[in-house]
Amino acid sequence: MSHHLGQRAVVIGAGIGGFCAAGALSSYFKEIVVLERDAPPPSAIPRAGVPQDRHPHLLLASGLQALGDIFPGFEKDLVDGGAVSINAFRDIRYERADVGALPQRDCGASLLCASRPLIEYVVRRQVAAIANVTLRSHCRVTEIASDAIRPSVRYESAARELAAVEADLVVDASGRGVPTLGLLAALGWERPLETVVGVDISYATALVRPEGTSLDGQILVTLPDPSSSVLSGLTLPIEGGGCFVSLSQYGATKQPETWQDFLALSRQLNTPTIYNAICKLAPPDGLRHFVFDESRWRHFEQLQRLPRGILPMADSLCRFNPIYGQGMSVAARQAKLLHEVLDRVAGEADPIEELQAAFMAEVGSLLQAPWNMGVNADFAYPGTRGQRPERYEESRQFEAALFRAIVSDPVVHRAFSDVLQLIKPFDLLQDTDIRRRIDAHVVVKNA
Ligand SMILES: Cc1cc2nc3c(=O)[nH]c(=O)nc-3n(C[C@H](O)[C@H](O)[C@H](O)COP(=O)(O)OP(=O)(O)OC[C@H]3O[C@@H](n4cnc5c(N)ncnc54)[C@H](O)[C@@H]3O)c2cc1C
Repeated sequence: MSHHLGQRAVVIGAGIGGFCAAGALSSYFKEIVVLERDAPPPSAIPRAGVPQDRHPHLLLASGLQALGDIFPGFEKDLVDGGAVSINAFRDIRYERADVGALPQRDCGASLLCASRPLIEYVVRRQVAAIANVTLRSHCRVTEIASDAIRPSVRYESAARELAAVEADLVVDASGRGVPTLGLLAALGWERPLETVVGVDISYATALVRPEGTSLDGQILVTLPDPSSSVLSGLTLPIEGGGCFVSLSQYGATKQPETWQDFLALSRQLNTPTIYNAICKLAPPDGLRHFVFDESRWRHFEQLQRLPRGILPMADSLCRFNPIYGQGMSVAARQAKLLHEVLDRVAGEADPIEELQAAFMAEVGSLLQAPWNMGVNADFAYPGTRGQRPERYEESRQFEAALFRAIVSDPVVHRAFSDVLQLIKPFDLLQDTDIRRRIDAHVVVKNA
């Protein structure tokens, strides 16, 4: 049975974050209106509002679970759309400079690999099947106005007319939080503090057809020794027999412009695995580039007050370094949290206020582990900008011991896989038995 918390919720942005939020809200509001400046296409093709969608988008096992919880038909639809099933880590060749390739063991987690346009399309179709969710395309939100009782979202419609829609709840999933920040500025309220980590990662991506090669049905990851190289490689099989090959470099440098340049750069990876896998393939239909400047956590959750009924979510709240493949999964997990909180506050006297307070109180701990994992790895690269996390050196030593342990110990490998996939909390690695196994690989340096 549904408990209506209000008449209408408005979601700004029809990306993964916005649509997951709409799915979570659908049982709790009579109507959900999603405002999107783009016109999401009727099939699984790229769109302008998501310029990163021609680059690999890995969906972690926890993201797949969360999407399946919000949209029960999601996994089947993704498989029907051609997603490639991958077992972690049996089908993942994960190469590090310190310990070499990790053993390809079955760690019990399944992934579905697909292009970002297919993932978005499947989510979009799930949302389209929910009767009380409406997508308004070509509607660019210009501001949120708030009279302290109900926010009103102002937007420019497809006909370039100004319009407004009132709501009991507004979810800002616009990617950068601009509407929420604008509202805070208009009210003269405090802006959130931000933690920013500058990485300037340049991506060059090719979509190849790898049939019958080692790229088929497995993921390859080649990481550098960060003290001497900034270049990583990733291959990700997707629907339709395609495979993304991506080369990324910290500290945005010159990008390869041709397939020959791309091949030459891939030879500079720490191992020849990716070069050997792609060197005989037919040249792709062009290369795609993207520069990701910085990870940014806008600490809305730490503000003393937020305007009533406003909820920044997904990238608007925290934008992760994409190299770790966390953004979509964490967005889906936030929507799951939203659903759990909605369920809890449904009977309260002022459920909107309770919802906002409870979500903001709990979302920080959901973001912390993926943020720490990414940022700790980023600071191994000397050019990374920002403040190093506390106890950084200790966490580097722990990481080094962890990977040495993984090579010989399947129990540690499985724990690492669960933590990496965000299935289990980071603290699992501090569990007495796991910690003892990792500590056995700590190398004590002579003073
Ligand atoms: C190069 C790259 C690679 C990535 N790889 C991965 C990966 O491997 N795995 C992973 O999980 N994540 C990855 N990500 C991150 C992932 O794309 C995001 O974290 C994820 O899409 C969640 O985003 P979102 O829904 O919050 O925002 P977005 O996907 O940015 O969606 C925001 C939406 O809001 C709309 N919008 C913006 N402003 C307005 C406005 N004023 N009015 C109306 N609509 C508006 C936009 O058009 C867009 O549709 C990658 C990102 C980049 C840049």
